[in-house]
Amino acid sequence: MTEKFNIAVFQGDGIGPEIMAPTVEILDRMAKVSGSYSLQFNEAPAGAAHYAKTGESLPAASMKVAHDADAILLSAMGLPEVRYEDGTEISPQIELRKALKLFAGVRPVTVRKGQRTPLHMPAGKEIDFVLIRESTEGLFFSQGCGEVSENEARETLVITREVSEKLFTFAFDLAKTRKTAGRGPGRVTCVDKANVFRAFAFFRDLFDKEAARHPDLIADHAYVDATALWMVQKPWDFDVLVTENMFGDILSDLGAGLMGGLGLAPSADIGLDNAVFQPCHGSAPDIAGQGIANPFAMLLSAAMMLDWLGLRHENAAMRRDGDRLREAVEDVVAQAQALTRDLGGTAGTRQAAEAIENALFVK
Ligand code: ATP
Repeated sequence: MTEKFNIAVFQGDGIGPEIMAPTVEILDRMAKVSGSYSLQFNEAPAGAAHYAKTGESLPAASMKVAHDADAILLSAMGLPEVRYEDGTEISPQIELRKALKLFAGVRPVTVRKGQRTPLHMPAGKEIDFVLIRESTEGLFFSQGCGEVSENEARETLVITREVSEKLFTFAFDLAKTRKTAGRGPGRVTCVDKANVFRAFAFFRDLFDKEAARHPDLIADHAYVDATALWMVQKPWDFDVLVTENMFGDILSDLGAGLMGGLGLAPSADIGLDNAVFQPCHGSAPDIAGQGIANPFAMLLSAAMMLDWLGLRHENAAMRRDGDRLREAVEDVVAQAQALTRDLGGTAGTRQAAEAIENALFVK
């Protein structure tokens, strides 16, 4: 029987619609070729341009589409010149993360043979690890509520047992899934600053309790500063890293740098009941409307969506399609075919997407 999935689609701002269009086209074609699942795409208007037009950045109707969806695809939202009255940026993606309790920010970092990277890669080495950034609390807990007086400013870091336990369960489950798929030794590293802050000693203690439930997996710890060093010196040694919100925010951009830029960095924000899949980059207003945006990070995020849905609904065909889409992008990048300008090539969005379609469908 063909299983049907509802996908909420946030086209967003700037280059958002340009990279979403080929992504939806490719996903739709994969589903039709497979015949084992079908995808119903439901548009959800939101973002800075929508706010400028209507006074609402995330209408209740769009929130409902997201809430009711099996998964959410989001390209990029926000425009530098459009702001709320208090001067802050329009970022409905953060509201979605909070409203849907998407605690696990999953940021894969991969560098395959042939892929451009600022690192000097030893022969035969590839990078393939996942950084999990807690996405609802940590130092971002007090976002917008910091206290500032004339001589002092304070922000509060919050780490809760409830969220940390869910986060660590997620991290160990992911390491197990990767190990079963032949990607990584099944190791989870807790990245913290437990030598200085009691909150991180608490975080680490909860990590150790979860680790004890997984004798088949390896668990270790690393301080965040050492992790930044090792991400440059020996990133091929990592498997699954799990960390607090602000540390993860910073390390995930370092990860994108290892991959040769934001144009190849996908992400997922995952909760118990829903998940948002979106590229790590923003709406790139400087290149919007020119047809030159790189669609690869969006496509890799869509591949993560197929994998997540397939695992959750035990749909093997969908997981296979997730792998095929990811490998198609990785192959095209490694062979330096149809690279957009941010990756040193000359291709436009359409040509780059066509190269992926050819890799997937033309035998
Ligand atoms: P945000 O704060 O929303 O993350 P930002 O202003 O920090 O946004 P981006 O919108 O990601 O950053 O843009 C940073 C730079 O990267 C810009 O020069 C932009 O053109 C480029 N860029 C971002 N995404 C892409 C893409 N998909 N293809 C090509 N260039 C991109």
